[in-house]
Amino acid sequence: MDLYEYQGKELFGRFGIPVSEGRLATTPAEARSAAEDLGGQVVVKAQVLTGGRGKAGGIKLAEDPADAEAKAAAILGLDIRGHVVRRLWIERASEIETEYYLSLTFDRGVKKPLFMFTKEGGMDIEQVAEETPEALVRLHVDPLEGVQPYHARRLLYGAGIDDPSEQKQITAIVARLYEAFVACDAMLCEVNPLIVTPAGEVKALDSKFTVDDNALYRHPDIAEMRDVAAADPQETLAREKGVTYVKLEGEVGILGNGAGLVMSTLDVIALAGGRPANFCDLGGGGDAEGVVDALEVITTDPQVKSIFFNIFGGITRCDEVARGILEALQRLTISEPIVVRLDGTNAEEGRRLLAEAAPPNLHVSPTMLEAASRAVELSR
Ligand code: GDP
Ligand code: MN
Repeated sequence: MDLYEYQGKELFGRFGIPVSEGRLATTPAEARSAAEDLGGQVVVKAQVLTGGRGKAGGIKLAEDPADAEAKAAAILGLDIRGHVVRRLWIERASEIETEYYLSLTFDRGVKKPLFMFTKEGGMDIEQVAEETPEALVRLHVDPLEGVQPYHARRLLYGAGIDDPSEQKQITAIVARLYEAFVACDAMLCEVNPLIVTPAGEVKALDSKFTVDDNALYRHPDIAEMRDVAAADPQETLAREKGVTYVKLEGEVGILGNGAGLVMSTLDVIALAGGRPANFCDLGGGGDAEGVVDALEVITTDPQVKSIFFNIFGGITRCDEVARGILEALQRLTISEPIVVRLDGTNAEEGRRLLAEAAPPNLHVSPTMLEAASRAVELSR
């Protein structure tokens, strides 16, 4: 789950990472009173779950409350890379001497948290990594050892930070960022830019904070931060129904049992020249109710043009899945063609049930590849 900048900063604050004082606003009038509260120059910042807000006109300095109100009116409703601005973070403006970059993420290949630090902050980190890779310091932390002062020293000396006061402050921030990362079950904590003010104070001017969805049950306070209105409607519905679902870009709706089989199903669809519309895993068991729920989620996506049901019965019984499909067809209005491939436990029985009922938009294919080609054809 991705957090808004202001939510990430709230977490930073809890762990003692310095941030600027600010207020949330959803209307220009609220932005005005927030600016009155804070006093002096403020920054009006669009809160959207994407980066590059500055370049898109989503971040503006305001001289006084009236100016903050005007800037807020200009930013609210903006479309930033497909995200409409509905919330603003009004923050006391900072003076910036330099901008650094600091992040902590998971390196899955190495199975360790990875710090990245560079003096080239404020811009795209991908660009830094490509154009001046020597300026980007990368450092893994052994999770059993945890973060140690020498980690911070390596980051600082590697990037060439030689001011003792900056060294001291960044050392503390590195340790706290690691603490926040572990304590919140984060997947990413990124500070871009980490600024130094003319007075020599180091602080986090931006935050990108991603928490592992599978750990949210341990963090009810963070789980509550989810913005339901901004979420994808199918993913919200799937979460409510307890269906494992990830939205993708294509036209062929996918339903399978078991994550491995669903992954292969995505590959087979690509092989057949199509594009999967989603990843959807029925899991083991696969009772009729689960099938109805999953089909409901998939068919509410207007991008879906055909559906590929790929079931390999182990624990899952194919006759049970077949009953689920037939029940779903009775309960929901499904106009998209459905291609079914059933194999494994009770497959014969399942195919017989489908053949007897013979709903008009249902096609049974014997093999995975044939079924995939058929589903791709029907999606055109
Ligand atoms: P992003 O574009 O989505 O990464 O948003 P950021 O929060 O990183 O802001 C983008 C840029 O706006 C920063 O790199 C700063 O240069 C500028 N900016 C943001 N806040 C302030 C501020 O308080 N004072 C000044 N002078 N500039 C700011
Ligand atoms: Mn930024």
